[in-house]
Formats: sequence, C-alpha cells, structure tokens
Amino acid sequence: MSIEEKGNISIHTENIFPIIKKFLYSDNEIFLRELVSNAVDAVQKIKRLAALGQYNGELGNPLVEVAVDEAQKTITISDNGLGMTAEEIKKYINQVAFSGASEFVEKFKDAKDANEIIGKFGLGFYSAFMVADLVEIQTLSYQDGAEPAKWVCDGSTSYEISEGSRTTRGTDIILHINAESEEFLSKFKLEEILDKYGKFLPVPIKFGTTTEQEPDGEDEEGKPKTKDVEVDKIINTTNPIWTKAPADLSDQDYLDFYKQLYPFGEDPLFWIHLNVDYPFNLTGVLYFPKVKNDFDMQRNKIKLFSRQVFITDEVKDIVPEFLMLLHGVIDSPDIPLNVSRSFLQADSNVKKINSYITKKVADKLAELFNKDRKGFEEKWSDIGLFVKYGMVSEEKFYDKAKDFALLTNTKKEHFTIEEYKEKVKDLQTDKNGQVVLIYSNDPAKQDSFIQSANKQDYDVLVMDSPIDNHFINSLEQKLEKTSLKRVDSSVASKLIEKDENLESVLSEEQSKTVKEVFEKAISKPGYNVEIVALNPEELPVTVTMDEFMRRMKDMAAMGG
Ligand code: ADP
Ligand code: MG
Repeated sequence: MSIEEKGNISIHTENIFPIIKKFLYSDNEIFLRELVSNAVDAVQKIKRLAALGQYNGELGNPLVEVAVDEAQKTITISDNGLGMTAEEIKKYINQVAFSGASEFVEKFKDAKDANEIIGKFGLGFYSAFMVADLVEIQTLSYQDGAEPAKWVCDGSTSYEISEGSRTTRGTDIILHINAESEEFLSKFKLEEILDKYGKFLPVPIKFGTTTEQEPDGEDEEGKPKTKDVEVDKIINTTNPIWTKAPADLSDQDYLDFYKQLYPFGEDPLFWIHLNVDYPFNLTGVLYFPKVKNDFDMQRNKIKLFSRQVFITDEVKDIVPEFLMLLHGVIDSPDIPLNVSRSFLQADSNVKKINSYITKKVADKLAELFNKDRKGFEEKWSDIGLFVKYGMVSEEKFYDKAKDFALLTNTKKEHFTIEEYKEKVKDLQTDKNGQVVLIYSNDPAKQDSFIQSANKQDYDVLVMDSPIDNHFINSLEQKLEKTSLKRVDSSVASKLIEKDENLESVLSEEQSKTVKEVFEKAISKPGYNVEIVALNPEELPVTVTMDEFMRRMKDMAAMGG
C-alpha cells in the first residue's frame, strides 16, 4: 500500500503518550467511553445533516458496533456516521487534541483523574493510547466523491495517512491493544464497561449477538414451533425516561426505570422529574428511596450523565449535601466532563444547578403535602430525615420546608410547626411569653416523665433521630418566642415556668432532709434532685438534668 503522507502530530513535546498512559492508568477504561461517544456523535451528525438537507444519501439504521478479536488482540469501534476525509483527519485528529501541548504538560502534573485531563484538553480520541500501542482509523466520508482514508499512529508523535479500505460511509477505530491492557480483550470486561458508560446512549450500540426465539410454523400436532435466531445484541436503551416529557410517562415507567438503575432496590417513595433549559441545561429524575439504616451504603447513588454518556456517580457539589441520599440520574451538557472537585466548586453553573435542585425538591414536597396530606404523613418516617437535614443545612430550604415539615408527638399525631405551636400555646406558654415545646429523645426510657407531662396536659414531641439535636437548635433560632425543653429536664409541674406560687406539702425542713439523702446517693455533677410534693400524682423525688446543663454536656461530649 502506498503511503500518501507522513507527518508529525503538531505538538512540541516528543512522545507524549507514555506520559498519558502513566497518568491516566487508573482510569484507562475511559478510552471506550470516549471512542464510543465519538462514534455516537458521528451518527448524530449525519442524521442532522440529512435533516438539514445537506446529505441526500441513504442513512441506513444508525448503529455503533464494538467488536473484539482476541486472537488479533484488537478492539474495533465502528459507526455508520458521517466519516472523515483525509483532510478532516488532519484537522480533527492530528491537530486539535494537542493544540496547547506545553500548557497541557504544565497542567498535567496536577491533574488528579483522567476526566479532568480529557475534559480540559479534548484528549478524547487520544485516550485510545492508554490501552493501545497502535491505533488505526479507517473512514469514508459522506461527502460526494470522498475517498476512503486510513490513518495509523503507533503512539509516537508521527502518523501515516494513506488510502483506506472502507467501502461504506462511516468510521472504524481499530485499537491494537498493548500488553498491559489485555484485560480489555475480555468480552465480559468490555460489556461491563459498555454497560457502565453506554447504557443510555442515544444510538444503538451493538456488542456481539445473542439468540432469540422466533415462531417457526407448527409441528405435526399443530402446536406452534420456535427456532433460535441470532440477532444483534444491543446493550443500550436509546431514549431513557429522562429524555422524555413527564406528560408522556406513567408511574410504572418511572418505577421500571428505577428497577433498571437499581435492580435490587426496593420501590422508591416518589420521584421528581427535572427539566430546565435556562439558564443552564439539565434533565433528570431523582427518586426518594425508602430510608434504610445503613446510610453510607445508599450514598452516591445518583448518576451524572452528559448527553446520555455516563460520567460519574460522584455528584458532590452538584447535588446539595442533604440530598445525597437520593437516587436517580442527572444529565447536563453544561456540567463539565472534568468533574474534579475544585473545578466544580468554582463553576457557576454548578452552583445554579445545586440551588435549582434544592428548589425543585422543596416544591415537589410542598405539592405532595398539599395534594395528599395523609400520604405525606405516611411517608414522613422515610423523608423526615432528608427534610430536617435540609432545613438545618440550607437556609433557602428551611424557608420552604417550614410549611410542610412535620412534628410528631408521642401519640403519633403529626402537625406542621405552626399547627403545633397553635395547639400547645395555651397550656405551654411560660411566664416570659415563650411557647415551650417539650420533647423526648428516647420515649422508652423517658416514659415516666412523658406520663407525668401528659398528666399536666402537656404534649410531648418525639425527637429521636440523629438529626434532631440540630433540628431543635434551628427551630429555636428560627421560631419566634419559642424554646424547646427535654421532657426529663425538670419535674413535670416545673417544665413550664409559670407565675403561680406552688406550695409544697412538705415543710422546708422535711424537703431539705430528703434532698440531702438523695444528693449523697447520686452525687453526679449536673444532676438535680427535685423534691416535689405539690401534686399527689407526681413522683415525690425526681432526678433531672437541667436543659441548659445537659446541652452544655452534650456539646462537650461532641467535642465542641
Ligand atoms: P471531541 O469529541 O471532544 O471533539 P475527540 O478527541 O474525541 O474530541 O475527537 C476529535 C474530533 O475527531 C471530533 O470532534 C471529530 O471531528 C473527529 N472524530 C473522532 N472520532 C470520529 C468518528 N468516529 N467519526 C467522525 N469523526 C470523528
Ligand atoms: Mg470525543
């Protein structure tokens, strides 16, 4: 075969590929994502050209195919996209990637992951050299009179362009897999990577074949027969639900999609379909899972896509911290592929996306609350934690959630914050005009205190979740003239300090003697022995810890 042109890829640094390999090694499976998404782009582009009337030839069935040849040690990514002319190869493949090579090498030193490099320097195609020591392109452009072209590069900076062998429109990228990367020649491995990155790509991705049964007439007894037929194995769903309009989807569609994402998950409680095109582009579906005890297991379940290509499931910063327990997908072409933390934090789109998601979640919860209060109350044990976490961590979320956040008392009745204050304010306002909300953080242990409080007609809230300590603090900060007191912080008759003059049935002398005896027996700092014989129903001697003292102690125990 005659070589038509030899040349050097235009970078100033010799042999950059060994450096790429070294730095990108941990993420080297990304080559497949990059090459398959280039193939998908090529197919989308020819479709667009056809739609615009700039291409009048046969479109064919859009298809990308990944094939592996274990004997030859090659992986081939083929598409019937728009193809490239030799000129275009020079323009797009030879030059573009390393237009800023010196800058590249300079910044490369600090890059933490392959995503960062690929995103920032358009390394997409060149990621092939992470796993291949020879890369070949065979391509035929859609343009009238185009000649097939071939490009070969062995990972040094020199390349060859010659006449190619493709007879139909499109491109093959042939990777001659290097010795360290032979794991990628395994079909299982490849399928796993394709499934991870390409499960929802918009063009069918074929990987091998599979057998299906087809009707095949009838047997002698007239029963229908089937025969096995080989059909293309398509690994992806080309139009996942987040690309569709909510109006065209049923609840079952959302549940099915959830099963597709998390085959072993329990059905989610509800979901939010995200769809925004200004000032940034974002679609997605977020699911509220049933809360399990093991929080960490459930974290990082949201998958981030960019134009249906899976990018990462590290969505910190894009999704507010308090929603990290949600599941689902987010797709945004405006989120840079290089999802390194420092970059994300600085990106203004990301900040907007974060507050958009917070707002959407708050709106959805408000809608559920308003439409179906009973259903909302039933879900509260699962969603209460998110809501409280959100309220203590995001001011804006608090402002919306304060109208639907529920307080639950020991009788398992639910109230909004306003409703609750209204309910208790007559009996539970103290001499300073503060409404005192009484709570228990351990109803089983504090049962006798709860009963005593109930005998005074006081209501007791249950605040026993891990977040409640913080939630109590933010309620006290936000609510006017309101304080919270733990049910065992005082004897029931003194929980709400009123002006009335309570008289003990014991003489002062008697009280003092009894108190001394008990104090000797207890002798722990912070605890109070209260002698009460005001109310025959109350226990005459109670050991309590003052709300203030207890909070100080809790804080010290937490190390702050
Ligand atoms: P990017 O995809 O971000 O543009 P890449 O390095 O992945 O960067 O690819 C560089 C360019 O090479 C693409 O923009 C495209 O013009 C061309 N290209 C790569 N793969 C193909 C393909 N399979 N078919 C047609 N053109 C391709
Ligand atoms: Mg690309």
